[in-house]
Amino acid sequence: MARFPKFTAADRGRRVAEAHSVAVIGLGRFGSALALELMAGGTDVLGIDVDEELVQSHNGELTQVVRADSTRREALEQLAVQEFDRVVVAIGGDISASILTCSLLLSMEIPAIWAKAVDDQHGLILEQLGVDKVIYPEKDMGRRVAHLVRGAALDFIEIAPGYAMVKAPAPSSIQDKPLGDTGLRRTHGVTIAAFQHGDQPWDNADNRTVLTAGDTILVVGKTRDAEAFAQLL
Ligand code: ATP
Repeated sequence: MARFPKFTAADRGRRVAEAHSVAVIGLGRFGSALALELMAGGTDVLGIDVDEELVQSHNGELTQVVRADSTRREALEQLAVQEFDRVVVAIGGDISASILTCSLLLSMEIPAIWAKAVDDQHGLILEQLGVDKVIYPEKDMGRRVAHLVRGAALDFIEIAPGYAMVKAPAPSSIQDKPLGDTGLRRTHGVTIAAFQHGDQPWDNADNRTVLTAGDTILVVGKTRDAEAFAQLL
């Protein structure tokens, strides 16, 4: 069952930064989408699920898919999950299985463990256990969609509390002149990080960038400033 590259302890810092291989435990909607996206980006993925049908359905789509119960230490050891750069626990409905799996993984010295939480209580337990990164997909997506529903942004992501990146049409007030001459950092408190002209690929914006009607921009700034800027026509 050895198909993933082996790394020495000396490689560890580099490995964690690059994540060449990820084990995804739980191939429900979230775990499955995550695993497929990792594969698309060139990362080796081991998918694990107790459900035989789900395992079969992912056959050939991931580097390897195995039916196993992640609450059993022997199963995790047999699959050598400790040799992966990162392990993601994507079990939500069965909270005890999620917690047990995470505590087993933590005792196996895995470089980085990520786990999905269904609510704040679940997340708190995972954080207290020592899980490196707890993710709240439903809560985060709900908050993100709220910003989209309320405003005119084409996409929105809060990078840190109170700080966001917003995709929006370029407003007319900053068109047809270099960004450096618009003074928009001073007047609106935002920075334009990137832009897209028509169907052309996205490019980084700088002081010399001249936007025209129909361009799309990525605005970075305090959430309220970035959102207010995205409302401008
Ligand atoms: P999603 O919203 O991503 O579909 P969910 O939050 O409803 O998932 P679950 O259905 O509990 O989460 O779990 C996701 C997957 O994890 C399921 O396919 C389930 O079979 C699998 N799973 C649950 N317990 C275990 C376990 N002990 N070992 C391996 N896989 C498990």
